[in-house]
Amino acid sequence: MHGGQRRPGYSLSEPAPDVFFVEGPASNWVILRRGPEFTLIDGGYPGDLPLVLASISEAGLDPADASAVLITHAHIDHAGTAGHFAAAFGIPVLCSVPELPYLLGEDRDQVSVRRILSRAWQPSVLHWSWHVLASGGASRVAVLTAAAWADDGELAALPGSPAAVPTPGHTPGHTAFYLPAAHAAVTGDALITGHAISRRRGPQMLDPMFHSDETGARRSLSQLGKLDASLLLPGHGPAVRTAMSRAVGTVRSRAAVPKRKFVVPGPVGGFAEPTYGRSAAGSER
Ligand SMILES: [Zn+2]
Repeated sequence: MHGGQRRPGYSLSEPAPDVFFVEGPASNWVILRRGPEFTLIDGGYPGDLPLVLASISEAGLDPADASAVLITHAHIDHAGTAGHFAAAFGIPVLCSVPELPYLLGEDRDQVSVRRILSRAWQPSVLHWSWHVLASGGASRVAVLTAAAWADDGELAALPGSPAAVPTPGHTPGHTAFYLPAAHAAVTGDALITGHAISRRRGPQMLDPMFHSDETGARRSLSQLGKLDASLLLPGHGPAVRTAMSRAVGTVRSRAAVPKRKFVVPGPVGGFAEPTYGRSAAGSER
């Protein structure tokens, strides 16, 4: 989905009326506009703050007029700027009950540095790790004034009328959001369409190393597949117009692919490209 304005560092599009999808340098965020107010869903790394503020202005809004910042999950590439909205404007930062301890920094659930380093010989992983560190990814998420949303009614009253879709697995309290008027699903990291370390395009799951509970993450796909949505707004990768049942079906068919194999660095020519197992679809890359 293109046609969005290109600005240094991010790309903003309006795939449905008053729904702004922003692709940041490493992760995405969504702005739901209602008159002068808006709901912000996620907001990149701490270092992405100038981009988040610029994207809000580009949508014709004032950052101080956010009704709430909703967090799909407490990873720093999604929750990194939420603290600024709370501290600077007193805007409520909300997440699910099980995700709250992580957002408050009382508990930690991040992909471990050890797991990343064990894969850092892959050029794509190495490049991604560098961006993570440069954007504040080694710092801890700690949004001091975050809270859990009280109930569905509290969310429904916000601009965009988002409905929480519990999708645990990537993190214990991961939540996607269904936007009824836009027939859209903001899927966070439960279902993505691309990632710096993935060579695939289209609906897919994140690399297993990122999930706190991979089995749970797979189970949560069913919740997304049931949504009456034809617009997928992921936490990573471009927006995709597709029925959610179809997107989930695509991901599930890929789940049957044998575990991929990586070619170890060869004796000459530096690093070899990783080789992936072929899927039945074959044409997806
Ligand atoms: Zn992410």
